[in-house]
Amino acid sequence: MTGPSDTSGPFDKLVGDAQAEFDRAESKPLREAWLGLDLPAIRIDLAGRLRAAGIDEAEIETRHLLTHVLAPASLAQALADPALVSWQTVAHLADLTWERLKRKPLSQVLGNQPFWTLDLIVTGDVLTPRADTETLVDAVLDARKDAVLDVLDLGTGSGAILLALLSERPGWRGVGVDVSPAALAIARHNAAACGLEARTGFVEGRWSAGLAEASFDIVVSNPPYIVSDVMASLDPEVRDFEPALALDGGADGLDAYRDILADLPRILRTGGLFACEIGYDQGEAVSALARGAGLDGVRVLADLAGQDRVVIGYNS
Ligand code: GLN
Repeated sequence: MTGPSDTSGPFDKLVGDAQAEFDRAESKPLREAWLGLDLPAIRIDLAGRLRAAGIDEAEIETRHLLTHVLAPASLAQALADPALVSWQTVAHLADLTWERLKRKPLSQVLGNQPFWTLDLIVTGDVLTPRADTETLVDAVLDARKDAVLDVLDLGTGSGAILLALLSERPGWRGVGVDVSPAALAIARHNAAACGLEARTGFVEGRWSAGLAEASFDIVVSNPPYIVSDVMASLDPEVRDFEPALALDGGADGLDAYRDILADLPRILRTGGLFACEIGYDQGEAVSALARGAGLDGVRVLADLAGQDRVVIGYNS
């Protein structure tokens, strides 16, 4: 005997409205594949599908997806006791997995991403904060221990860099600028969620062009720096789901640095620090642009993988 009625998985007792929802769901093929399976079996199947879709860290991502839908029940408990797992939970898991199998980034599937000590909301309107960018946060915190400073984050996106800095320095205040209103909405939400609303302001604009009178002690940026011709060869997660606006740096990848540095002397106070993220092979080029803009003490810093990742300099 075969068929759903012989099975004991969470989808076993689908009736009425539940069956209708099951039939309507975009993830129906996945839900069907998981009919009759218990959670340990679903877990194995899910990881196999992620791997088959070309996703490298399939086991780790499977764990993230499972813990997302199972909260607050612990994964270990749920794996041990099938009664803890409802069909709604598995349906939710199927929906999320379906999206991930299209190569939507895990951060966008789950809706959040850890960065520094923060948990940030992420959508397709912002670049997902990357661990590499913590090198920039580290560099600024290392260089500046003053109790009170004004920080400007150009192209703030989710607000990740600005919020990480302010979370470590209770006396610092900051402004995040972005050309995308949708990104600013995410950044504002994140500032509030991190309890940093009172010390942050967000301004729509193209780099520092809209900041008429203001000046800052620190200017940071993770601008778009991918060479336009390379965009098509990026991972599908990045190429198809992240905003090109935050990635495409023009013909040589350096357009944004040129624009930012052209106006930097006007907005960076004397003695102020400039720190920006760079691509692994852009250390020399961005250093030269920074010196050309009049910055001193220009240095290239590497990330934890040993790749050049940050350029810093001072307006002396
Ligand atoms: N590091 C990002 C990537 O490779 C690019 C970020 C950027 O252009 N600022 O996907």
